[in-house]
Amino acid sequence: MAKKRGNALEEHEKRKLTKQNLSKLGGIFRFILPYKLNFFLGMLFLIFSSLTLLTFPYVAGKLIDTASGKTWLVDDINGIAFILLGILLVQSIFSFFRVWLFAKVSERSMRDIRISLYSKLVQLPMTFFDKRRTGELISRITADVSMLQDTFSTTLAELLRQIITLVAGVIFLMMTTPKLTLFMLATFPVLVIIAMVFGKFIRKLSKETQDELAAANVIVEETLQSIMTVKSFAGEEYESNRYRKGLNKVVVVALKAAGFRGAFISFIIFALFGGIVAVMWYGATLVASGDMSVGDLVSFVLYTTFIGGSIAGLGDIYGQLQKAIGSSERVLEILGEAPEVSTADFQKVPMEGKVSFRGVRFSYPTRPEMEVLKSIDFEIPAGEKVALAGQSGAGKSTIIQLLLKFYPIDKGQILIDGKSIDTWNLKQLRSNIGIVPQEVLLFGGSIKENIAYAKPDASEEEIIEAAKKANAWQFISKFPEGMETKVGERGIKLSGGQRQRVAIARAILKDPAILILDEATSSLDAESEALVQEALDELMKNRTTIIIAHRLSTIRKVDRIYVLKEGEIVEEGTHEQLALQEDGFYANLVRLQFAE
Ligand code: ADP
Repeated sequence: MAKKRGNALEEHEKRKLTKQNLSKLGGIFRFILPYKLNFFLGMLFLIFSSLTLLTFPYVAGKLIDTASGKTWLVDDINGIAFILLGILLVQSIFSFFRVWLFAKVSERSMRDIRISLYSKLVQLPMTFFDKRRTGELISRITADVSMLQDTFSTTLAELLRQIITLVAGVIFLMMTTPKLTLFMLATFPVLVIIAMVFGKFIRKLSKETQDELAAANVIVEETLQSIMTVKSFAGEEYESNRYRKGLNKVVVVALKAAGFRGAFISFIIFALFGGIVAVMWYGATLVASGDMSVGDLVSFVLYTTFIGGSIAGLGDIYGQLQKAIGSSERVLEILGEAPEVSTADFQKVPMEGKVSFRGVRFSYPTRPEMEVLKSIDFEIPAGEKVALAGQSGAGKSTIIQLLLKFYPIDKGQILIDGKSIDTWNLKQLRSNIGIVPQEVLLFGGSIKENIAYAKPDASEEEIIEAAKKANAWQFISKFPEGMETKVGERGIKLSGGQRQRVAIARAILKDPAILILDEATSSLDAESEALVQEALDELMKNRTTIIIAHRLSTIRKVDRIYVLKEGEIVEEGTHEQLALQEDGFYANLVRLQFAE
């Protein structure tokens, strides 16, 4: 907790409104640039409406003076009342255009920011995602961009409006009643200093509240993501308690913040009206001695409330801008990340499918001290089927991830068709490698969209053909909506075996030179199992296939097995050769893991 508090302070310090920090908002400003005409017009209307409203107290004072027998340009109180209504009307029309124009700019530019962020995010390398939580990334696209939207549609406009009101109001008062104005201004610095001290505490505490709330949100996110696990462990009550504890922490900090805020608000109200009392008292003595008219006093008091209001408003805006700087930092950070190299359009050139690993060493960037692969060497001729075997954590999936170039390797070389994967166009490389994962997760759309994911321009016939080869057509054609059937979020409306066959159809349509099969550990019912197996056999034909094997039946059929132990290949050969080595690592593994 102490550390967290330290962080909150640090964060807070970082976001002081220094020039450097404000330039971060400037970084966002480039998204406003395409809509600069509307932005400029909005600013213009804002200036007009503020200036128009500033004439209101002056004319109101004249109304009172005219009522008490003095003369002005317009000599009757009805006329002046109409002028006052006119001022309000013009001001409202200007305000409408200001709000509309700023909304136009901010809605469009924030859409642009979200698109840029999203496009950037999906292009970022795996290392980036290893280091960050999904929820945090989502909140950058949603909450942070909304914060910026408020800033550019309202906060900046308000800032300008308050500054105009403050400066023009003070200038006007100095010109008309300098004595009273100086008296009023003398009380301001005290108020401002007290407000700033309060403001600092409140901001620090509300940052802490946000941190605690974010921590509580993570609990919800995790629970919903693994709701099946939670249920299977009857963990509902445990999770509710965990969430309650998290929320209780929020309440404690939030109440502390509320205490400060309450004190602050009552202080401001007291100070504001106290100031008005002081001004009225001093003004009344001036009126009594004949140095000031009643009307001037009325307009003076009105100006004082305007000015007081804008000073209070500026305090709020200060806090808002600090938050906006935090948001722009987080948004710009992602926009500034380097994407994976070249996923640009490419010509699909044929790949033979020969895969070679030569002296490959690797540690995950998030755990550089742990070497996951220690000098891996193998050569898979095009069209061969091999299996990777070994206990969990041996490095099998890592080998696949490196082949897909999800991470850069530390030493050695990975070659396809004799060419280093660094020289292959990234998109071309990946479009030539098909994967049927252990746990198939489909996208929320239709079966058709899911199959065509690998080839969005595929014809209806091609998709059906792929579905037939994948043994998926039997069940798809039985659905009333056929291929248009929606699979539900992550494909939950299909059974495990059906999802696998959709994934196989997808891979068939992709037609890759190299195929990766990550076998499911849990077996399906016998009938689905047979259908899936048949579909896989069809898919594997004429393709280099690397299987992360969990079944004896699979491992028996492959041309060669590589047995991995703690990041090294300890044995290789066919099942027959390896199983014969009585006390070999593989023979043991078979006894322990593959005994069916
Ligand atoms: P296998 O597929 O054989 O079960 P993996 O290749 O998944 O093994 O894992 C090998 C080692 O790498 C394990 O110790 C695992 O904890 C570690 N590891 C896997 N993925 C990551 C990752 N994204 N970041 C850091 N370490 C990882």
